Amino acid sequence: MPLLPWRLVKTWSCILCGECCRKFEVRLLPHEAKRLIEKYGPEVVVVRKGKYYLKKVNGACIFQDKRICSIQGDKPMACRLWPFYVEKKPMRLEDRYLARFDFMGETYYVYVHSMCRGINKGITPVEVVIMEVISLMKRKTSMQILSTSMLTDDSIKRIEMLSKALKSVIIGRKLPLPQVPLYVSLKNRELAQRTLLERLEAEL
Ligand code: SF4
Ligand code: SF4
Repeated sequence: MPLLPWRLVKTWSCILCGECCRKFEVRLLPHEAKRLIEKYGPEVVVVRKGKYYLKKVNGACIFQDKRICSIQGDKPMACRLWPFYVEKKPMRLEDRYLARFDFMGETYYVYVHSMCRGINKGITPVEVVIMEVISLMKRKTSMQILSTSMLTDDSIKRIEMLSKALKSVIIGRKLPLPQVPLYVSLKNRELAQRTLLERLEAEL
């Protein structure tokens, strides 16, 4: 079963294995594609059957730098929420208790993708991470503290110690911008950027 109701998971911490950025293809909302093309150029997005995806290079997302995402502040929503799936209805009737999550006066049904190697890792209770994930989804916050972020192995240990006592800690470390390969000429790149942006403008 790829999606586990959250009650089957005790703790969660990203262990920076980097597999999610290799195994999956990230679909972008049109406004996300527009933002990324404007900032990083047209080669970071591919269009297939009218849908937008992050480009993959050598089997990994173009923005993956070793095992870590190099565009933390610009990550699309799908990457921010991964590996959590927040629904308004249970995906299966039998999940209605195991997946139910009541938070800030609303009821959600939350699942964790079983492929993620962070399941039952660390000491952060999964409930605490889910609160942050729902806040991100509802755009109540854009800061990722416990969910996937720019944490390093050392900072994960540190944040887990602090989060046990404080339940919320803010850390931040800017990573360098990705080196986008210039495999297309500048002229073609500008043309591609303009074409994609015009198309996105029409869709938004
Ligand atoms: S979110 Fe999960 S799969 Fe992705 S890098 Fe972290 S532990 Fe690995
Ligand atoms: S944008 Fe970042 S988090 Fe999302 S797939 Fe690419 S490297 Fe991974």
